Amino acid sequence: MTTTAVSSAPSPQDAFIYGRLINLVRTGQAVTRPELERETGLGRKVIAQRVRQAMEVGLLENGEMAPSQGGRPSRTLTLRNEAGHAYSAVIGATEMSAAVTTLDGTLVDFAHQDWESADRADETLERLDAMFSRLAQRTRTRPWAFGIGVAGPVDFSAGALVAPPIMPGWNGFNVRSWFRERYDAPVWVDNDVNVMALGEWHRGTPSDGRDLLYILVDLGIGAGLVSGGSVFRGHHGAAGDIGHIQVTDDPAVLCRCGRTGCLEAVSGGWGLVQRLLPEASASPALSAVLKQGRSLTPQDVGLAAAAGDPLASSAVEESLDAVARTVATLVSFANPGTVVLGGGALRIGPEIVDRFARTLVERTSDLAGSDLVVRSASLDFREGVIGAALLAIEQLFNPAAVGLWIEEGTPVGRAAMLHRAAIASTTRPPRTA
Ligand SMILES: [Zn+2]
Repeated sequence: MTTTAVSSAPSPQDAFIYGRLINLVRTGQAVTRPELERETGLGRKVIAQRVRQAMEVGLLENGEMAPSQGGRPSRTLTLRNEAGHAYSAVIGATEMSAAVTTLDGTLVDFAHQDWESADRADETLERLDAMFSRLAQRTRTRPWAFGIGVAGPVDFSAGALVAPPIMPGWNGFNVRSWFRERYDAPVWVDNDVNVMALGEWHRGTPSDGRDLLYILVDLGIGAGLVSGGSVFRGHHGAAGDIGHIQVTDDPAVLCRCGRTGCLEAVSGGWGLVQRLLPEASASPALSAVLKQGRSLTPQDVGLAAAAGDPLASSAVEESLDAVARTVATLVSFANPGTVVLGGGALRIGPEIVDRFARTLVERTSDLAGSDLVVRSASLDFREGVIGAALLAIEQLFNPAAVGLWIEEGTPVGRAAMLHRAAIASTTRPPRTA
């Protein structure tokens, strides 16, 4: 008989309350023992016992003394952010980034390498896993959870890609299962622009919790909306996939997706190069590239525009205006407080953001545009890995999940249970008659 083990096992309700207590401290809503008593309605003894337990497993630690409220001063509590680590990655159109962060999304280490979106899914993940192994050795950490952003629509609950236009071989590929065969840690997969938006919302230039619309202008074009602190994913996870909205009737504007007139074909780096190729001889900068026997890249166009080449500059401006007009429609619909421009387009120079902001505000309704903040991404192209890590951490501390591991002080070894709980908590309730 294992009566001792059974009697010491916490009830689900107990674990839930313990999880709530940790989250109150983590989010700063209640940081002293008396505040925790007030917020949870639990007695002093129970709170003291739980706090002691959380300290013993290394999750909480003592902070500074709280300002006195008249009575005896209380010591504050903080989450030990280095108690665990998230491993995160962004698999973009042309490069892969990987990072290790602490439990508040602070970068501990970072790596990146070039990558071709045509590469096979399993080979790509082998390379990413090798990057994670090197990061694990360098940081002497192990992953509590993985957060991975990929350049395509993602079925969030399954962790798999759905018909990604620029990564055709990845259709239906389950990134979560691939990592789960190698690690007993929960894995969260999302669209790359969604995690960039999340990173900027949490850790970018502060914006008083305003809803944030992130616009990626790179090889492709995408959008991510964070509202009330959460990513808006839509019914199938395809929200924000704006690159293939039709913006012109011109049948000559062919897109990589097989259709014509897409925003990405007009304004993405790939589309920009295709449009400029026939007239490149009129530009000294671009024809110089072609004379070297190289094929033209979006970076060449950006460099030429930054150097004032008239043809490249006007093509970049037209592209940016087309993005701004589309984003004006989104702003009129969703009314975010902040619009962030990110991606390789930023490398052309700061005037890019000014022009984008002008066109956007001109085209936006008065009320939605009245105190709209338009700015460039502020995390040095690392908002994606930071956001992906925060996504994984938020899932670990999700009220439905945290109770499942909090007693042990680590989620390692509970991946299957955590996935089931998180998916059950996001499943829509049945419609009542
Ligand atoms: Zn398209």
